[in-house]
Amino acid sequence: MRAGPASPPHGTYCLSGTGRERAGSAHNGGMDPTSPLEQTLHTARALVLADLASGEVAAADVVSMVEDSVVQRRWWVEQWPDGAAFVAGLVAQDVQDALLERYGRWPLCPVCGSGDPHALDVEPELGPDPHWVCHKAGVKVASVGSLGSAMGGGPSS
Ligand SMILES: [Zn+2]
Repeated sequence: MRAGPASPPHGTYCLSGTGRERAGSAHNGGMDPTSPLEQTLHTARALVLADLASGEVAAADVVSMVEDSVVQRRWWVEQWPDGAAFVAGLVAQDVQDALLERYGRWPLCPVCGSGDPHALDVEPELGPDPHWVCHKAGVKVASVGSLGSAMGGGPSS
């Protein structure tokens, strides 16, 4: 029987040596604090905590809300590593939702001085470089993590 022409190797697609490393994190379940994933989660956690501290909601159970979100988003970004840049915005929205159930709207808009108090929204909902925006005034208020400067009334002449 014919063997046919030898099929060419899969060109540029080389499996050996370039694949993702699978060994090395078995000892602690992948919680390597120096991995990009953990760095991303740590940054997201720090940004949202900074925004929480800029308001008046940095209570102990608020921190646990952030931790709960980070745990869920760790799983999420493990399934979809390309979404790592979106994690900070997602954690901010998770915490916002959790606060709405227990405390009420957060963060309150610092831009509109009068009228009904309203919360800021994260934009993009699923994207990199998340910002707090006021849809009422149609303005970006601050980056996630920089709400303090917007709330604190820094020099804004
Ligand atoms: Zn507003």
